[in-house]
Amino acid sequence: MAQMHEIKGWCPTAYRPMATGDGLLLRLTPNWTGLSPQQLVAITETSLKFGNGQIDLTQRANLQIRGIESDHYLKALESLITHDLIDASEPSKQPANILISPLSSLKQNKKLTARALALELNQLLLQNNLTKKLPSKFLFCINDCDKLSLYSIKSDILIDISEDEKTYLILANDYYNPLCIDQRDSLTSAIELTKRFLDLTKDNEFVFRRMHYLTEKIGIHNFLQPLSLKITPRKKDFKTTKDTYLGEIKNNDDYFIGVSAPSGSFNAAQLQDFSQILIDHKSQNIRLTPWRSFLIPIHNVKQKQKLLDEMKDLMLITSQDDPRLALIACPGAPKCSQAYGKTEEVLERLSSYGEYFSSHKDVSVHISGCTKGCVKGDQTPLTITLTDQGYNIITNGRADSAPTYQAISIDDIDRYLKHHLSILEPL
Ligand code: SF4
Repeated sequence: MAQMHEIKGWCPTAYRPMATGDGLLLRLTPNWTGLSPQQLVAITETSLKFGNGQIDLTQRANLQIRGIESDHYLKALESLITHDLIDASEPSKQPANILISPLSSLKQNKKLTARALALELNQLLLQNNLTKKLPSKFLFCINDCDKLSLYSIKSDILIDISEDEKTYLILANDYYNPLCIDQRDSLTSAIELTKRFLDLTKDNEFVFRRMHYLTEKIGIHNFLQPLSLKITPRKKDFKTTKDTYLGEIKNNDDYFIGVSAPSGSFNAAQLQDFSQILIDHKSQNIRLTPWRSFLIPIHNVKQKQKLLDEMKDLMLITSQDDPRLALIACPGAPKCSQAYGKTEEVLERLSSYGEYFSSHKDVSVHISGCTKGCVKGDQTPLTITLTDQGYNIITNGRADSAPTYQAISIDDIDRYLKHHLSILEPL
C-alpha cells in the first residue's frame, strides 16, 4: 500500500519556524555571507540554551537549529539577531532560494562574483514581487567557479559566470540547451525566465513546482518562444560530477579544508569545539556547501595538517574516503512527526557496512523515515524506506519508488546487505 506523507509546501526560516516532532526547527541561510567562528559559537549556544542541541546542515547549504521549545522561540530569535545571523529589519522579506559557489567570494580576479550577483538577484526578485510567488523549492544557482561547481545540483535556473565576459543560463540542468548571453544581461534575463515560468504555471502551481516538470511537458523551445532569449550551441563542458569537497582542497593559490559529519548532523557540543578550533586558528569566512559540509579557508599552509588532525579528533568527517559517507539518514522519529521509526537506529545498525561499498565516496544507502525522502530526492543504489508495516528495500530508486522487497525486518536488511556485498559478517 502506498504510504502517505504530508507535503508542507513551504520551507522554514528563522522567522517562520516549522513545528517538527522534536520542537521548532529554525533554518538559517548564511550561504551568501559565510560565517565567523564567533557566529558558530552563538549558534551552538542558542541550540544548547533553547533547543535540543542538534544542528543540521542541509543540501541547500542552510543550517538548521532543531528542537526549539515554543516558549523559548523569541529568545532564540533575539540571540540570532544579536549575532547578525538574521536580519532584524526585514522579517517579512524572506530571501529567495539562491545557492552560490562555495568558493565564490574568495576568487580574486573576477569583476563579478556569484555572491554580489546573489544579493542583486534577491533584490530584483523582491522588487518585482516574485519571491513569494515562486514555489518553495524553486532554486537559483549562481556559479562563478569551476572548482566545486554547482552543475551537479538540481537547479531551476542556473546562472553560470565561470567564464570571462560570458554568462550561461541553464534551465532545469539542461546543459545541452544553454542560453549564452552578455554578462550584463544575466539578471534581467533570469527575471524574464522567472516571470515566464510563473505565467505558464499560474493555474498549476503544484504540478509544475519545479522548472523541469514544465520544460519536460512543453519543451524548452516553447518555453522560450515569446522571449528574446535563444538557445546557443554548447561551447563549454559542464562537468556534472562532484568535486572532492572534504579534506584538503586547492583552488589556484588558495587552500581550504572541507569538514562534515554523518548525514550533516552535528551536536552542539561538537560544533562548539569545532568553533573553538577555528577561533584558535583565526579562521574566518567559513562557508557552507550544498554537500552538507563546512569549507574553511586556510591562510597558512603549515596549519593545514594540524587543523585536519584537530577536526578528526572531534570524530568529524575530513576525507572523501570516510566510509560514513556511504550512508545517509533523514532525522526520523522522534524528530520528525511523519516518520515511521527511528532512522538513526537503522543508520547505526548498518554503519559498519559503509566500507564495503565500492564507491563509498558518495551515498550508497539512503535511509528514509517515510516515502518523502527529504534528505535525498534523487536515485540511490539502495534506499531503505520505513513504513507502517516494516522496511522497504528499493534498488536504484528513490524513497517513494516501487520496492524490490516490502515490509521486511531489520534482520532481513542485514541479511540482504551481507548477501549483496558478498560478505559474511559486518565488522
Ligand atoms: S523523509 Fe524523514 S524527515 Fe522527511 S518527512 Fe519523512 S520521516 Fe520526516
